[in-house]
Order: sequence, then C-alpha cells, then structure tokens
Amino acid sequence: MEKIKFERPVVNRIHAGVPDKFGLGTAIQPISHIDNYPVQDLLEQFGSPLYVLSEKTIRNTYQEALSAFKTRYPKVQFAWSYKTNYLNAVCKVFHQEGSWAEVVSGFEYDKAIANGVPGNKIIFNGPDKSEDDLKRSIENGSYIHIDHLDELYDIKRIAPMLNKVAKVAIRINMDTGIYPHWDRFGFNYENGEAWTAINKIMPDPNIELVGLHTHIGTYIMTPTAYAVAMSKLAALTVRIAHKYQHNIKYIDMGGGFASKNTLKGAYLPGSDTCPSFDDYAQAISDALVNSDIQYEHMPILFLETGRALIDEAGYLLGTVLANKRLLDGRRSLIIDIGVNNLFTSFWYEHHIVPAYIKQHDTEDTTIYGPLCMNIDIIRAAIQFPVLEKGDQVVIKRIGAYNMTQWMQFITYRPKVVLIDTEGTPHVIRNNETHETMNELDQIPDHLGRINL
Ligand SMILES: *Cc1c(COP(=O)(O)O)cnc(C)c1O
Repeated sequence: MEKIKFERPVVNRIHAGVPDKFGLGTAIQPISHIDNYPVQDLLEQFGSPLYVLSEKTIRNTYQEALSAFKTRYPKVQFAWSYKTNYLNAVCKVFHQEGSWAEVVSGFEYDKAIANGVPGNKIIFNGPDKSEDDLKRSIENGSYIHIDHLDELYDIKRIAPMLNKVAKVAIRINMDTGIYPHWDRFGFNYENGEAWTAINKIMPDPNIELVGLHTHIGTYIMTPTAYAVAMSKLAALTVRIAHKYQHNIKYIDMGGGFASKNTLKGAYLPGSDTCPSFDDYAQAISDALVNSDIQYEHMPILFLETGRALIDEAGYLLGTVLANKRLLDGRRSLIIDIGVNNLFTSFWYEHHIVPAYIKQHDTEDTTIYGPLCMNIDIIRAAIQFPVLEKGDQVVIKRIGAYNMTQWMQFITYRPKVVLIDTEGTPHVIRNNETHETMNELDQIPDHLGRINL
C-alpha cells in the first residue's frame, strides 16, 4: 500500500485590512481641506494635534434630521444631548437651530442655563440628581425624567416644600429586540414597574406626569427597534388616558441613532450600513401615527439624538512623529494623536487618511499614538501610504463623545477650532497649559520644600 503523504497543518495569520478573499481595500482619498480651509494652515496656526468642527456640517445635519421627522410628524422637538459634545459653542449652534437641552447631571444643567436655555426647555435625565438639582429643576419648570423610585420619593417630598408642581416624565426600559437590554435605567415596561410608578405619580397633586421617556441604547442599527419602543409607550399613553383621563404631552424617544463610523469587527463600513434619518423617522412616526392615541391628543415627539447629529462634523488633525518596523516586519507609524484625544478609538475603526498623498504605495501599518502606554493604538491594521516624520493626517467623524470623554493624561489637551459657515476658523476651546493644569492642585505646607 502506498504511503499517503502527510503535510503538517499550518495556521496563516490574516492581517485585517490587507487584500484577502473578501476583497481589496479602497483607494485612499486624502483630506487636504476642511470646508475649503487648508489642513496645513490649520495645524500651523493652532498647533498639532487639533480638533476641528464644521459649523456648516452641524447645521446641515440638524436640518436633515429635523426635516426627516417634520415631514412625517410635524409635532417634533429636538433636545441637544449635552454629554455627546458640551463645548458651549457647539451647544449654542444647536440652540440657535431650535434645539432644547437634554442634560444628565447638575454640571450639565448649569451649562445649559449659562448657555441661555430657559429652565422650561431643559430635559433632565439620568440616575444622579441631587436634592439641589431637583429643587432647581422644579423651581424652573424643567422636565425631570425620573430614573428610579428613590428619585420619585425625593420629588414627592421636595415639591410640596416649594409649593410647586413638578413636571415629570418617567424613563422606561423595555424589550425592543436589542440586546443586551438596558434595564439599569428607568422602570421596566414588561414587568409592570413602569405602570406602578405611574400609579404612584398620578394621584400626587404636586407632580404632573407630562411625558414618557425611553432611550433604548446607542448606535442602534435597526429602526424597527424604535417602532417597538414607540408602540409600547403609545400603549401606556392610552392606558393612562383611559384610567386617569389624563393626556400625556410628549413621548421622548431618546437618542441612539447610529453615525457613519465603522464599529470594530463590523463586516462592512458604517457609511454603507448606517440607516438614514428617513429610515428612523419612518419607523417612529408610523408607530406613533398608527397607535390608538386619540387624534386630538397626539403628543409632541421629543428626540435626544446625539451621536448622529455631531459625529460627522468633527475632525482630528495630527502629525507623524516617527516610523518604525515591528518585529514581524510590519510598518508602524507613531502620530501625535493618542487615545486620550480619541476615546472612541476603543470601539470604532476610525477613518484616518493623510492630508496629502506623496506616493500611492500602501503598506499594512499599525498606527500608534504618542502615549507611553501599550493601549495607545489608533488603528491596529490598516493599508496606509508610507508617510514621513512631519507629514499630516486627518481623522474623520470624531465629533461625538471625544470632546467630553477625552482624558487629561500624560499631556495637555489641544485646542478646538470651529470653522464658521463663512469658512473662518475660531478657537472655541483653548489648549491646556502648565498653569491651567496646576490650578486645582494644592500642596500641604510640609511638602512645600524639597532638597535634592
Ligand atoms: C447619551 C444619551 C443620549 C444621546 O445618545 P446618542 O446615542 O448619542 O444619540 C440621549 N438621551 C439619553 C438619556 C442619553 O443618556
């Protein structure tokens, strides 16, 4: 019998981003200008790295979202989600466009008031509202979205002391087919908790139930999940009208629309898979219009969209610090943008390109930030042109969560520039300095002197 030849099996490593059986990487388009302003000039004038926001893109995106909803359901009101980007200039752009404020802390509440938002146009969400926060919001007629029973009991105690009627909604979590189910916020729909909370609120003369609220998650790719959520909140609205002859003024669908960023591990780019505002608006307004809520009592639809309204308007510009070869021969690029500036790099494959192309050959590259920390990786594997020290790069779609979750770590946070609709750049937040960083430190007397 002939001996069968044996060949030892081998495991071949596939590098993500390299052409493979799924296809080729697309050609790299440099970004040399933002709203017609040269990237090179921005970095020269304001330093590197640099956050840049396009006011034109913010306004256009907002108008696109507003018209998607308005054309289907006219009674719609957006409230800007402060935690997504609470630079004052950014909030002011949204407020100029007509957006109310949606805040989740006393700090954000202060910011909204200081930005000129009337108290009765602030929605106060979140599990942490201090006694003082509740008092201020009741006094100002803000909409308090109750997260748990302890908060409800606080309001029951405080409102009569102020001789006021608190305007409240309850946050409701529910099964919309999106998992994991966010059951940590608000009252559950399916197990009857939400209905129990409503029955504790309705008989109280010092509390007015004005709305129902949900926020089903973030980066939700399936508009039908919103249709499910809306149907459930509409059913509760009908039940309240039936039992109490009380009509809810608004239903607040929260935020959670996806942006065009690509999630790590996603098979296709986010720009191809992200639903449009029209898709979300259609699902939500269909469920609302087709509900059993009486025609003359149709509620206002509130939206707290964050990510999808601002991500696209943000850019992060940076400079190449060095080139290096890794042990396996792969090229690595060190740039001055680290994960301290780009918090969202933990879950997105950020779109990064050179500011200009000097040559078209690409190599499988790892892009590192400047931090002396192993986790500081901007892109683990990307087909990237070979750049040199001093060359400039642009990261696109970084407007959401990076300018709030940024970390002061190892180095100073850089400037933020807004390019206005005429094309003029304005610094809207200065860089940190040795002075600003040391402002809060205090040194006890016995540590005042060192002798080395
Ligand atoms: C964070 C948050 C939002 C905004 O969410 P996005 O996913 O950025 O749209 C809206 N509402 C509440 C209650 C939130 O916590």
